Amino acid sequence: MQIEIATLFPEMCEAVLSTSIIGRARTKGALTVNCHQIRGYTTDRHNRVDDSPFGGGMGMVMQAQPVYDCWNAVRAQSEVPMHTIYLSPKGKTLTQQKVRELAELPRLFLLCGHYEGIDQRVLDKIVDEEISIGDYVVTGGELPALVLTDAVARMCENVLPSPDAYMDESHFSGLLEYPQYTRPEIWEGEAVPPVLLSGHHKNIAAWRAKESQRITKERRPDLWAKWSNGD
Ligand code: SAM
Repeated sequence: MQIEIATLFPEMCEAVLSTSIIGRARTKGALTVNCHQIRGYTTDRHNRVDDSPFGGGMGMVMQAQPVYDCWNAVRAQSEVPMHTIYLSPKGKTLTQQKVRELAELPRLFLLCGHYEGIDQRVLDKIVDEEISIGDYVVTGGELPALVLTDAVARMCENVLPSPDAYMDESHFSGLLEYPQYTRPEIWEGEAVPPVLLSGHHKNIAAWRAKESQRITKERRPDLWAKWSNGD
């Protein structure tokens, strides 16, 4: 998997993507992530990449030219086709199912907006789909792009120790995960559920399945309804 992130703040993305599991996956070559500075493609002699919105209103809008030239240059760096995603609060909300689909693609181009967003004309020209991380607005597309990158990366081969690591987690099967415990066996007078100390794998699996269902039913009736209908 190759992920290209186009942003005005590549250092912000690099800081996160050089850390922990994703950082290690990049170092060992399980995943390639390149951050591209959109400002590096502006033809404006003052290095500007934004201007005020036609029609008036608050804030600035990112101009089409630097975004388009950045996308074109990155596209030409490899023959692997790119699927272009604009991170946007107007997009479809990201789900684990969408993450699974994206993880099957060879190369993603993630476009991060800033300020009031990006000139619609370039979006119409290059974007395959718009994805939102939820029904709220953040200041830029960098955090959404990092969320998407992290979620996709952990489903790629050799990033986590084995597929079991993500298959057993919340949302993969449509349910939320059972509670987890670790040492000590008693903490602040609270004991770990005895079945987890029994060493009886079948009983442990049954307890976890039951807890998973209980928690999903209690916290997310919407997910529970889907799962119990077999959707
Ligand atoms: N004016 C835009 C609107 O009302 O839809 C919001 C612009 S927002 C302040 C700046 C950038 O942050 C957007 O261009 C987008 O890339 C990103 N962004 C903000 N909220 C987001 C969300 N919920 N999901 C994905 N990207 C988001």
